[in-house]
Amino acid sequence: MEEPRLSFALMLSYLNRVLERVSDPRQPSNAQRYHLRDLVLGAFAVFYLQCPSFLEHQRQMQSRHGHNNAQRLFGVMTIPTPNQIKNVVDGVSAAVLLPVFRWVYQALAAQGFLTAYEVLDGQRLVGLDGTEYFSSAAIHCDQCSQRTHTSGQVSYHHDVILPVIVAPGQEPVISLMPEFIRPQDGAQKQV
Ligand SMILES: [Zn+2]
Repeated sequence: MEEPRLSFALMLSYLNRVLERVSDPRQPSNAQRYHLRDLVLGAFAVFYLQCPSFLEHQRQMQSRHGHNNAQRLFGVMTIPTPNQIKNVVDGVSAAVLLPVFRWVYQALAAQGFLTAYEVLDGQRLVGLDGTEYFSSAAIHCDQCSQRTHTSGQVSYHHDVILPVIVAPGQEPVISLMPEFIRPQDGAQKQV
């Protein structure tokens, strides 16, 4: 198998290849203005740059200068709004993007970036952080967890566990797929 190499351009092209296989959750419609690819890449750009207003800035840049960085850097052809992204991307299972995480992890490992994260005789430390990323008393779905409060009110929530590889002295943490956490292989230790 070809050894995965890591660069932003390669990561983006791999993400694009994965997106080609993702089916659009929307019903076909003439009003379908945004391609699913633009919506996912738009979300990716916001998270990659850690800048919630990135797309809005790029929309303004496009109208003032006739070009924008969302297209130049990320290949977003039509810049969507956060609501347009949420409305459609919420209907896409996160599992479809797991191959991208797997690819990045393998590329990091193949190029030796994970060596700096080895501690205690070549082991890696995995921090498990749990957080609630959605909660509502009114809106819920089939996958919601539910909580009955002492007042009798029921609320619905989604929780997530975020495993990350951590190491003393290393500021970046590396997101980990659940499949890489196998206590039986002795390679990781919970912190
Ligand atoms: Zn739900």
